[in-house]
Amino acid sequence: MAGIFSKIVTGEIPSYKIAENDKFFAFLDINPLAEGHTLVIPKQEIDYIFDIPADQLGEMMQFAQKIAKGIEKVVPCKKIGVAVLGLEVPHAHIHLVPINSVYDIDFKREKLKLSEERFRELVLLISNHITL
Ligand code: 5GP
Repeated sequence: MAGIFSKIVTGEIPSYKIAENDKFFAFLDINPLAEGHTLVIPKQEIDYIFDIPADQLGEMMQFAQKIAKGIEKVVPCKKIGVAVLGLEVPHAHIHLVPINSVYDIDFKREKLKLSEERFRELVLLISNHITL
């Protein structure tokens, strides 16, 4: 049975999509640590990131790089932090989180509550700055 992120890829579950190509998909995390917090996933449902075939993993990071470059043009930050946890959703995903300090990427912190309108604005702003 398809998992939650596979349903996001097919559109069965809605998401704030940032970008996609034939192999990868990027969308805003619904419980963000920061504005612009994005998840990058392979369309193929593989639980553990290091089970992804090496060539695809390389491509996934290159895809994530393009997304990160778009986020940093929109969200003021020192860098885009990168994290892989995968303890909650068994579909490999890279977290891209705008950070100014280590505290900004502390997953134990309370998450932001953004309005639907703000999520939509962020999608428009960020996706306009991404060239795949
Ligand atoms: P992890 O598996 O890396 O520990 O955490 C999963 C992440 O996916 C969390 O940051 C959570 O907010 C996010 N997440 C879980 N379900 C959904 C969903 O349905 N939509 C979106 N956009 N994000 C989700």
